[in-house]
Parts: sequence; structure tokens; C-alpha cells
Amino acid sequence: MINFLIFGPPGSGKGTQSVKLASEFSLIHLSTGDMLREEVAGQTGLGRKVEGIMQRGELVPDDVVIEMIAERLDANPGAGGFIFDGFPRTVDQARALDETLADKNTSICKMLMLEVEHEELVRRLILRAEVSGRPDDKNLDIIENRIKVYKEKTEPVISYYRKDNKYQTVNGMGDIDEIFHRLCEVIRACI
Ligand code: ADP
Repeated sequence: MINFLIFGPPGSGKGTQSVKLASEFSLIHLSTGDMLREEVAGQTGLGRKVEGIMQRGELVPDDVVIEMIAERLDANPGAGGFIFDGFPRTVDQARALDETLADKNTSICKMLMLEVEHEELVRRLILRAEVSGRPDDKNLDIIENRIKVYKEKTEPVISYYRKDNKYQTVNGMGDIDEIFHRLCEVIRACI
């Protein structure tokens, strides 16, 4: 099993690139953002609980996302590997993921960090709002709040993986295919 994390601030292209990488390397794409949006769309008990949190651009509680990921890992025992998108977003989530993977005798191979300038992030999110209809993309204050939450709560996850030599930056500026090729090179070097 070969597992990767795709990492970076909101708007860095994690979702777009994960879908392409999953198809290229036959990995299962697990996006906690997508899973949570499905719960909200279905107005499940969990969906109703997290809807407001997501609209404000805050993080949903760790135990919620840790549980969702553990369920997906259990549901795919024969998988060749996973690409985690938008998870882990806190150091506690990273620890939980490591433990869950260790129980399955596997681990994270690399954390792929997409580096994108702040102005470009905001530009992409505003553009995305027009097609995605995501409430958290529509308002500039919420976009800035998501980037702030990323810096405060999510960036510390970098040090967690850096100490294991798993951290790898990738230039996330440019066109989608160009960035995809940069990511593919890093993955090919691991497999
Ligand atoms: P983006 O990377 O553009 O912010 P995501 O789709 O990854 O978008 O996440 C959307 C929202 O879902 C987040 O702002 C947060 O409220 C919630 N969310 C997603 N993943 C997590 C997570 N691992 N931990 C806590 N909250 C999460």
C-alpha cells in the first residue's frame, strides 16, 4: 500500500490534483471536505451539526473527521493506496491517522505540499464560487478566515511530517497539467 497526503491552503488545488493523481496511480481519493459536504447536502444528523461550522470557515471537530476516515479505510481493505485530501488538518488528526495506518501495517509515504501565493489563492476561490456554489467560497471575509485557520491550526502539521523526512514542497503556481506533472514526478520517485 502506498499512501500520500496532499497539503496546502484553501485554493491551492488539492482537490483538482487529487482526482487526477488517484486516476493516474490507482489510488483511492479521500476528501474530508467532500464527505462533509455530502452529509450537509443529505441533511443527515452529522450534516446539520457541521453545516454552520463549515459556512464560517472553521474546522469541524477532530473526532468527526478521524471517524469518517477510519470508516473509509476499513471499507477498502484491498486498496493499493490512498490519497488524503484536506486531512489531516490538525496535529491530533495527523497522530490519529498514523495510528490507524500503523494498525494496518502501512504509513504515509510523502506529504505533498502545494505552494501558492496568497493573492492567487483568493483569486482562485472567488472564481470557484461562481461554479461550485460553495457558501464558504462566496465571501471574502470567510475566505480570509479559512486561510487564517489554515495558518494557525493546519500549518503545524508540516513540522509533524517534516521530522520524518516526509515533507516535500511542490510549486502550485501555473496551469493544472504543469502542476500535475510536478506531483507525478515526486510520486514516481517513491514507488
Ligand atoms: P478547502 O481546502 O478549499 O478549504 P475542503 O473541501 O478541504 O476545502 O474543506 C471545506 C471545509 O470542510 C473546511 O473549511 C472545514 O470546515 C471542513 N473540513 C474539511 N476537512 C476537515 C478536517 N480534516 N478537519 C476539520 N474540518 C474539515
